[in-house]
Amino acid sequence: MSSEPVTGTEPASEPAPQAALAQQPFESGCDASSPNRNLAPISSGLDAEGRLVVGGCRLSDLARTYGTPLYVLDEATLRSSCRAYRDALAASYPGPSLALYASKANSSLAITALVAQEGLGLDAVSAGELLTALGGGMPPERIVLHGNNKSPEELALAAQAGVTVVLDNWRDIELLSALAPSLAQPVRLMLRFTPGIECHTHEYIRTGHLDSKFGFDPEQLPQVLGHLASCSWARLTGLHAHIGSQIFELQPHHDLAGVMADALAQARGHGHPVSDLNVGGGLGIRYVASDDPPTIQAWVSTVAGALAAACRERGLDLPRLLCEPGRSLVATAGVTVYELGSRKAIPGLRTYLSVDGGMSDNPRPITYQSQYTALLVDRPTAEASETVTVAGKHCESGDVLLPEIALPPATSGDLLAVFATGAYNASMASNYNRIPRPAAVLVHEGQAELVQRREQPEDLLRYDVLPARLTPVI
Ligand code: PLP
Repeated sequence: MSSEPVTGTEPASEPAPQAALAQQPFESGCDASSPNRNLAPISSGLDAEGRLVVGGCRLSDLARTYGTPLYVLDEATLRSSCRAYRDALAASYPGPSLALYASKANSSLAITALVAQEGLGLDAVSAGELLTALGGGMPPERIVLHGNNKSPEELALAAQAGVTVVLDNWRDIELLSALAPSLAQPVRLMLRFTPGIECHTHEYIRTGHLDSKFGFDPEQLPQVLGHLASCSWARLTGLHAHIGSQIFELQPHHDLAGVMADALAQARGHGHPVSDLNVGGGLGIRYVASDDPPTIQAWVSTVAGALAAACRERGLDLPRLLCEPGRSLVATAGVTVYELGSRKAIPGLRTYLSVDGGMSDNPRPITYQSQYTALLVDRPTAEASETVTVAGKHCESGDVLLPEIALPPATSGDLLAVFATGAYNASMASNYNRIPRPAAVLVHEGQAELVQRREQPEDLLRYDVLPARLTPVI
């Protein structure tokens, strides 16, 4: 589908394609108990003709208005997952708590504004994510800055804005001490260490040390804690550990609580006023029907119960419990709509259907062999009688979004909705083959608002410089 050029004068939001549609329920592996267990956004449904609707908007209308590929983000799902974390923390942890959105999952002004409204904080990893967080209205005291190789400029930006800096290594400490004379007040710090718990989605191991580029080795903690106690510019108020991503097991998170409580005792023993323990993110989501992640409530209740018990056993005052979910907050809120183009049938082997996007808007399948679920936008319930391979349009044989999927017979011009694309798609998108990044729209109760303009091919030339001696002479 051709996409309308978006000029600088275009309003940031556009009229809704229609009022909220009357919707029929939509059976697509939805599990009302927790948004991270749904395959599709919680506001998904079918209109009277059986076409896919999300947030009260027909996906085919959105594709016509905004072009394809199109990232569609359902506000209700995002708000509901924020509330699930917030409410579960309040219900299952006896002390104070705060969920921070790991904005690496999908960083934008609109998402920041929504999670800030829901009372969450935010984890940023670069000046870009930090500026997006501040620009989207996230209060600096609810932001933490991560990174295993922060630049002096990133550290200065964070320290001057009053953002908590997560110390990852000695270089962070050196750079911050150099900045100290220019700072009006001590820098709030969190210390990241490797907890010796390694997760690979469906299994985990416990080791003394971890081969990880992130954080201090646990054996270094006494030295770091001793050093920080002598730094007048430093105020160490938190400890952090993160064990992995797309994790379905609860036991590693349970075990992490004990490791962190030990570190808390150690840090307080050095006289640091540590009030925050940040247990990272990592809860998995359902990408395909066979995925069976725990609910947000089960994850939070495990973490909260284990931490409260570990502190009780060690006679420690309860810290504030922080966690940093990314994927489980935003993945299921996202759907990507593509237009199908060419078909190549190789008799006896396979049939390729190509879409107008691929690895540049969703690098997860080619990078991690990630699986997805998809439906035809206007015939989601028609008999899926043909098994096809859905390929992207990039010049790479591995650019395949869905290696094997049963669909109703589909032709060029049909629209395909790929579900659970809200995390690590837009944020990991590239311009490979000089393909522009898609637009993103936020949908809610029949309203659609543009939250990310579509790049145009001409935009991709903006940073090219052609030396004068190479300029063609006409
Ligand atoms: N915190 C840190 C430090 C991370 O590295 C990540 C991602 O890997 C997250 C939080 C978010 O993880 P997830 O999206 O799996 O919840």
